Amino acid sequence: MQYISTRGQTEPHTFSAAVEAGLAPDQGLFLPSALPDISQKLSQWANLSYPELAAEFFQMFAPEISPDEWRKLTAAAYSKFDDPLVAPLKKLSNRTFVLELFHGPTLAFKDFALQLLGLLYKRQVEHSGKKLTVLGATSGDTGSAAIHGCLGQDGIRIFILYPAGRVAPLQERQMACTGAANVYAIPVPGVFDDAQRIVKDIFGDTKFASQTNLSAVNSINIARVLAQCVYYIWAWLRLPEAARDKVEFVVPTGNFGNVLAGWLARRMGLPVSGFRVATNHNDILHRFFSTGTYSAGVLRPSHAPSMDIQAASNFERYLYYLVGENPARVRDLMAEIKAGRSVSLDLSRETVFRSSAMDNHGIEETISRVYHDTGYVLDPHTATAFSSMAPSDTTSVVLSTAHPAKFPDVIYKAIGLEATHPSLEALKALPLQTYPQEASVEAIKAFITR
Ligand SMILES: *Cc1c(COP(=O)(O)O)cnc(C)c1O
Repeated sequence: MQYISTRGQTEPHTFSAAVEAGLAPDQGLFLPSALPDISQKLSQWANLSYPELAAEFFQMFAPEISPDEWRKLTAAAYSKFDDPLVAPLKKLSNRTFVLELFHGPTLAFKDFALQLLGLLYKRQVEHSGKKLTVLGATSGDTGSAAIHGCLGQDGIRIFILYPAGRVAPLQERQMACTGAANVYAIPVPGVFDDAQRIVKDIFGDTKFASQTNLSAVNSINIARVLAQCVYYIWAWLRLPEAARDKVEFVVPTGNFGNVLAGWLARRMGLPVSGFRVATNHNDILHRFFSTGTYSAGVLRPSHAPSMDIQAASNFERYLYYLVGENPARVRDLMAEIKAGRSVSLDLSRETVFRSSAMDNHGIEETISRVYHDTGYVLDPHTATAFSSMAPSDTTSVVLSTAHPAKFPDVIYKAIGLEATHPSLEALKALPLQTYPQEASVEAIKAFITR
């Protein structure tokens, strides 16, 4: 299996090389050169545990890692989840199921990919003998999930920049209360984009990047997308057989990584009717799927901060298929988007995606309505999925991307309940260890090499 770039100007890479590179050298995103057909395997996979299913799945994509090693990697990656099923599928009503993706160490779905990616980094260090410096900027969930993926791993140091005073207090605690000596949570003055710019500039210094063996944490690594395909297959296999024929996955969406994984699983032969892209009031993707025009808006903070995006970084992978796997066309479109212009595409043959958007008021109302109807407490991201439900012959599987206790203020406002979780309560007693720095490239480089 080879990995090619959406922009077509990169030599094919192996899985390990594509994971190590993150972004392709031509600035495109890696994709498998061909997708395997899983339709005949589904019945054999029905009784596997979550880690076993993940190991079977990854063997198709990275044959250079032996089946035995894959089983060990996935068993370790999902060992820190607090539910024996890893991703339990809960029935909310006759036609609505919730796939709980918040049982990992940081209580958000990003743990599914980043627990595994941390182990792949570790494997890379063992094979190359070179220590790794992992660097990223975060507005919350990605940074904490990445830190927990790299926690205590020999040969890896992880540096996460975030805007001082602008991440949720509990998210900061998840990053800064680990007690691990290889973790550096770095608040810098400014907003997320300032932190992000510093990180980009440091990667732009290729000499520094190679001296420190720098690796990026971001949402575009192909290993992250593939790790996320697994829970769509898992959920489908857990549905009652009668419900499997017409199922729509509903996915709270920001950078389009999560829903893209489901869509790829469908291209591999998972019989799913469709997907609904659910956004908050930052609705670039809802506007795209309802009009065919992709145009950036002004970013406004919302109750669902991990979906506050201006440009969906994984969207390029979908574009690649939408334009008929034509890299020249992708390069042109991405140049337009980068220049701040809007692009319009023909979606007349796109029947798989639907979309919806929900503002903050709607989020509060939905948390309250679903709680009063069913007793189930939704986190603000998951709440965005509960609008425009599917036609009556369709089963909805809502992906629940975070535990409500991560966002206690919104939950309290909506239903007057103190949402808690033991792992978050434990954090409150631990000392906060941060490494505040000036918002400058030089200061951060000096900190990394000190
Ligand atoms: C990251 C995140 C999302 C958005 O996922 P994408 O893959 O960026 O679309 C939604 N909800 C939560 C809780 C997240 O952390």
